[in-house]
Amino acid sequence: MAPPVLRRDVEDRFLREALMTCEFCESEIPIGLSVCPTCGKPQSAPGQSDRRSLWFVLLVVVMFGIAIAEHHLFFRN
Ligand SMILES: [Zn+2]
Repeated sequence: MAPPVLRRDVEDRFLREALMTCEFCESEIPIGLSVCPTCGKPQSAPGQSDRRSLWFVLLVVVMFGIAIAEHHLFFRN
């Protein structure tokens, strides 16, 4: 069993990593909040950037697939 001090340190680190910076006042607010508690401005949805990066990964995979297919066709002909 971990000593209480160590456990507290792990919890603190977890809480620090679960923070994001407000887009407007740049104060640290917990991830998942849609409104900054400091300045009261709405934050952009957390899922939005995730969806954008997913589309980017999909695009890269498709481009890579096309490049490989063209490469194979080039060497076959
Ligand atoms: Zn703010």
